[in-house]
Amino acid sequence: MNAIGSASSPRWYRGSVSGLAAYLSNLRAWGAGAAELVLHHGPATEQFRFVHVIEQDWNATFAQYHARGIACHAHASLAPGFRLEGWHTDAQVCAAQYTPLLAFCARMAQAEGRAVTMVAHGAGDTKATLHANQEATRGFLHWAEGEIFRLGGGVRIAIELLRARGVSDVHAASSREKVMTIIHDCDPALVGICWDMEHDWFNGLRDPSWTPRPPDAFLDRVIHAHVHDANGETLANHYPLVFNTVPYDGMAPLLVAHGYTGPLILEIRYRHALSLGNPQFWMGQSYAVLRRLLTDTDRALRSGRPA
Ligand SMILES: [Zn+2]
Repeated sequence: MNAIGSASSPRWYRGSVSGLAAYLSNLRAWGAGAAELVLHHGPATEQFRFVHVIEQDWNATFAQYHARGIACHAHASLAPGFRLEGWHTDAQVCAAQYTPLLAFCARMAQAEGRAVTMVAHGAGDTKATLHANQEATRGFLHWAEGEIFRLGGGVRIAIELLRARGVSDVHAASSREKVMTIIHDCDPALVGICWDMEHDWFNGLRDPSWTPRPPDAFLDRVIHAHVHDANGETLANHYPLVFNTVPYDGMAPLLVAHGYTGPLILEIRYRHALSLGNPQFWMGQSYAVLRRLLTDTDRALRSGRPA
């Protein structure tokens, strides 16, 4: 069965490496087999430390997950200095931001003896054209492929399908088609798609022809997946799996039935879980919902019925 995991914001364990041990016991009890660390280096505000694992904690954090048998993946820092639109202004500065992230991912891959995926967002400069954002993202990916080769492999980059802001959105990766265009010429062994099911569903609200099933050419390139719910009234996202607003119970099974063997990562915001009550309870509930879904899918596939 596919591993289930969650995005590991330090917020969930009060930001201390010692608090992490207790949180990891919860994760194991919930059946976590994977995790996604949001890696950051450089100056970080308090707010940033809630979400990102800062460089001084990289090794100790990974060591604890690794000791518990939880496979680590990564998400590139969300800080402005890591935005790929910077590739056009100064590719060298942008590359220098990503070099330590890729090197750490390669170290995790060596320790775990399997590939580590790093999720990145494409360029989305709102003052630039779609073409410029696509070119910046392609430039980065081309450089990263060489860098991964230089590091001895073991790292894959997943470009995340993001929410589009309006019909004239110029973000390089804010639709199924755009993500496919971006990664089309990349080495499939090194670069693929992070299918964020909520973002995809949200974009579909504007598109009458949208269905939960992306084309096979899209599913073929999915190497990582994000699952979270949206509040049906406010459309705020990154909620625990509680509202059933997002049709993940159709999307996750069809991805697995397509042959996807990667992890399903719950991307749940602590304050949204807190708004419902005990955050740890709601995270545990979300693991249970996803586990039930994957168990049913697995059973259906084994018995030859369509998932
Ligand atoms: Zn996501």
